[in-house]
Amino acid sequence: MAKERVGVAIIGGGIVGCALAYYLAVEGESDILLLEAEEFGSGATGGSFGGVRQQFSTPLEVELSRRGLEFWRTAERRFGAPVPWHEDGYLFVTGQPAIMAGLEAAAELQRSLGLTDVHVLGPEQIQEVVPWIGLTGLLGGTYTPRDGRVTPTDGVAALVRAARARGVRHREHWRVQRLESTGATWRLLGPDVLEAEQVALCTGYWTGDLVRPFGLELPIRPVPLYSAITAPALPGMRVPLTLDLDTGFLVEREGAGLVIAVIYEENPPGYGHARMLEEFAELARVRAPSLADTRIARHVVANVDMGGDGHPYVGEIAPGLWMAAGFGGHGAMHGPPVAELLAKAMVGRPDPVLDIGSLDPWRTTGGQVEWMVAARKS
Ligand SMILES: Cc1cc2nc3c(=O)[nH]c(=O)nc-3n(C[C@H](O)[C@H](O)[C@H](O)COP(=O)(O)OP(=O)(O)OC[C@H]3O[C@@H](n4cnc5c(N)ncnc54)[C@H](O)[C@@H]3O)c2cc1C
Repeated sequence: MAKERVGVAIIGGGIVGCALAYYLAVEGESDILLLEAEEFGSGATGGSFGGVRQQFSTPLEVELSRRGLEFWRTAERRFGAPVPWHEDGYLFVTGQPAIMAGLEAAAELQRSLGLTDVHVLGPEQIQEVVPWIGLTGLLGGTYTPRDGRVTPTDGVAALVRAARARGVRHREHWRVQRLESTGATWRLLGPDVLEAEQVALCTGYWTGDLVRPFGLELPIRPVPLYSAITAPALPGMRVPLTLDLDTGFLVEREGAGLVIAVIYEENPPGYGHARMLEEFAELARVRAPSLADTRIARHVVANVDMGGDGHPYVGEIAPGLWMAAGFGGHGAMHGPPVAELLAKAMVGRPDPVLDIGSLDPWRTTGGQVEWMVAARKS
């Protein structure tokens, strides 16, 4: 017998669950409980690079980016909380004609959807933007100067505070072990037993285990992303989040230093910090010679929510059971707008412009794959 009954229970306090709590409250839902197994922002959100970019290759993801950029650019003002926005830009580069053609097509799509500030650059133009880059083997790239980076846990803190001000209750260290349907409601079994009229799973790469009992198999899986923070580097220089799609070579500004990594969609066997740093140094000799011997200040590893077709899984799994998870490594930017769309769907007033039907968790393959996931393509 459940001790407590609530209107909506949100499971998972990453950027998605916290944003959903806030947007449901904005939509007028008055009885919301946000549950988190550990601490808010302790999952993928806490390890995120926080890159926010308009550069995607499908209309839906570009529209989510437009909304995500708006969310992060205005969050500090809207929530009256520290959520700094660093407009460093975003730069994809390649030496492969097929990838270059894909980047050009994606830039065209972004322009056609009203995001016109995207630049297709040749090697010399790239060097004008980032003089520290090496041009050997480079064909070109796409650059969006008004993209930027955030610290996603700043967003979590601001959203939790704003949700709480609107009456949302929350509990940390409350792991849901199992979900059961009672017919009319849902029973959540954790440190205690709770009953909820509606449940939303915002449990990132943990979601698969919670939905398997209902017959839903999701491709979402955790992939460890090994990165490092360097000592101060490239002083005074512009450092967009720069990714070489041929090799997975990545550089991003972090204070006076940089975040560096070599990113694979699937790590090779035995991959870890030692091998990543060896590969980075080798690749840097060509792509960013001044960084080949950069001193490392700190190692960092966090799991990314990879898998599937590059689009998140969002919608109703069974009557009153909803989910939003599996962002393919871009949930910091797309989590807040997706949470807003889900909140509207849950209260029965779906967004009049953007249909999220194609994100149905039960979808089978066959839709348009989003290929601009930030990782090595070859
Ligand atoms: C290294 C790294 C770099 C990244 N870079 C970027 C980037 O540049 N740009 C970008 O947009 N995205 C990036 N991402 C991806 C982005 O961070 C994620 O897509 C996003 O944070 C997912 O948010 P979430 O709320 O879905 O999941 P999470 O943040 O993982 O939150 C899920 C929460 O659910 C909780 N939970 C799980 N199971 C239960 C349970 N049974 N009961 C209660 N609570 C539970 C977990 O503890 C966790 O806090 C990156 C991620 C990593 C790791």
